[in-house]
Amino acid sequence: MSSNSLPIVGICAWSGTGKTTLITELIPLLRAQGLRLAVIKHAHHQIELDQPGKDTFRFRTAGAEQVILASAQSRAVMFEQHEVVEASLRAALELVNDQQIDLILVEGFKHETLPKIEIHRPSLGHPLLFPHDSQIIALASDLPLDLPSPVRVTQLDLKQPSLIVQFILERIVGRSTQNTTELRTTPSCADAREPSSLSLAEAQARILAAITPIKTVIKQSLRLALGQVLAEAVISPLDVPAHTNAAMDGYAIAAADLPLNALKTLPIAGSAFAGHAFAATCPPGACIRIMTGAPMPAGTDTVVMQEHTETTAEGWVRIGTGHQFGQNVRHQGEDITQGQTVLTAGRRLSPADLGLLASLGIAEVKVYRAPRVAFFSTGDELRSIGEPLEAGCVYDSNRYTLFGMLKNLGLDVVDLGVVADQPAALQAAFKMAADSADVVITSGGVSVGEADYTKTILDQLGEISFWKIAIKPGRPLAFGQLGETLFFGLPGNPVAVMVTFQQIVQPALLYLAGETAYQPFVIPARTTQRLKKKPGRTEFLRAIYEPAPDGSLTVHTTGAQGSGILMSMSRANCYIILDEDNAGVEAGAWVKVQPFRL
Ligand code: AMP
Ligand code: MG
Repeated sequence: MSSNSLPIVGICAWSGTGKTTLITELIPLLRAQGLRLAVIKHAHHQIELDQPGKDTFRFRTAGAEQVILASAQSRAVMFEQHEVVEASLRAALELVNDQQIDLILVEGFKHETLPKIEIHRPSLGHPLLFPHDSQIIALASDLPLDLPSPVRVTQLDLKQPSLIVQFILERIVGRSTQNTTELRTTPSCADAREPSSLSLAEAQARILAAITPIKTVIKQSLRLALGQVLAEAVISPLDVPAHTNAAMDGYAIAAADLPLNALKTLPIAGSAFAGHAFAATCPPGACIRIMTGAPMPAGTDTVVMQEHTETTAEGWVRIGTGHQFGQNVRHQGEDITQGQTVLTAGRRLSPADLGLLASLGIAEVKVYRAPRVAFFSTGDELRSIGEPLEAGCVYDSNRYTLFGMLKNLGLDVVDLGVVADQPAALQAAFKMAADSADVVITSGGVSVGEADYTKTILDQLGEISFWKIAIKPGRPLAFGQLGETLFFGLPGNPVAVMVTFQQIVQPALLYLAGETAYQPFVIPARTTQRLKKKPGRTEFLRAIYEPAPDGSLTVHTTGAQGSGILMSMSRANCYIILDEDNAGVEAGAWVKVQPFRL
């Protein structure tokens, strides 16, 4: 419920100029652009939404601090302040649910700090407000005004609300409207996709198309090969198992000697242990005591489990009926035969693969050199662990999530620390990173407003595109090349960093590393809650999946989903993925779940 990061614009004017009328006109036009709106209005009087005699009125006047009225269509919350304090915008903003809102319109609160549009009607004879308020960025008037130049504000025509909407889209929401001269007017086609944004699939495809996998082959010893990508297929030099052996503890016997209709007592001719074979041949009519893994003695082909036998006297064992020829025996080459391809090129080696290679006696493998990834965080507000946290500062967490995610992929990582938002420092950091790594990843500084600044520096060093991607959280992303080095500029918000990394950067890095078969793992689960969503972007909700009593999977979100709330990520064991065209689902519906790799 924090709306610090949402676009916000105030409409200010002398009373009676038509603030409410304009806002009422803007709302359907903004909605037609896919924006979900919150409106905050300042009132100078006691708020009376309900009336004497209504139940809610009775609860309020009886002294409740909050009264909430909920119906199928609406929910109303009334907060009562028993002490009279000046209404503050901040307190009002805390009530905005930023998961459900894209833009906040504010009426009144003209002394608060927020970008504002002044409305003016010369016929009313009021003085202009903008010369005394530097936060007024535009002036909407119903008649052309002859203002002394230079004029700091953008002049708008109050009679053309669609142009005011265009101004809000460009200057407040940060959406380019150059190619959208025609504003859509039917709210039914509202969708959250911006005209200038790329779908997730488009962004992923463009990035993969720009990458050439690293093909430098190195020999790596087994342990160091974990997480590396095989450069050539591995062919088995052996049969596995190398010898036919017992799968159980018990007695090795020739099937011909198995009892048919009655119990049978046999002499024990010797014993075989794993690593200590019975070197001779088992005589007909006898058996050999055998332990799991011990080679089957010559003259035997079947193992009777210990539990199905009884020792009668020293050196004798009694066996019952019902045993099958060849039972409890593992045959030579049953798992792998000599000459068989056990692992193919392009495979990223897992712990099981290391075991498999070890089981073949293979000490080293040919892998591709792992990409070297340098990363740093940008932002004057960032402090490293150990530094004091001054007012307005935050500890840099992105370098730690990035470190963890990169390490999990088996990559070679270089942490370049925090870099201040200063051209010289940024330029030096980009250069150093590009010189020392195959890939540079930064977080922060690619959102609207900041991008121009970073863009100028990056333009001098390479070719970078700044994209808005139709995903939530995430959205801004810079991608390109600094010389030979790939560059990913991720958003700053901690959850957005993780989501954009996992969905966009990870497939790209694995492809660069030579992995040929990477596919995100997605399974269905039933949501236990209603999930609201607008078509137009792919959403990644942080969630927990768990088994229902019937064994199927259910999933629920980890609560507040703000893109700065790392707790939502830390608690989660999966994402719920709601595809671009999804328009929300009801409780009980099947949704796509992407478990985090453990
Ligand atoms: P930016 O994308 O730079 O506008 O940052 C968006 C938000 O993420 C701001 O609240 C930043 O303070 C926060 N942020 C940026 N970088 C980091 C970081 N490395 N660690 C934690 N928070 C960050
Ligand atoms: Mg920043």
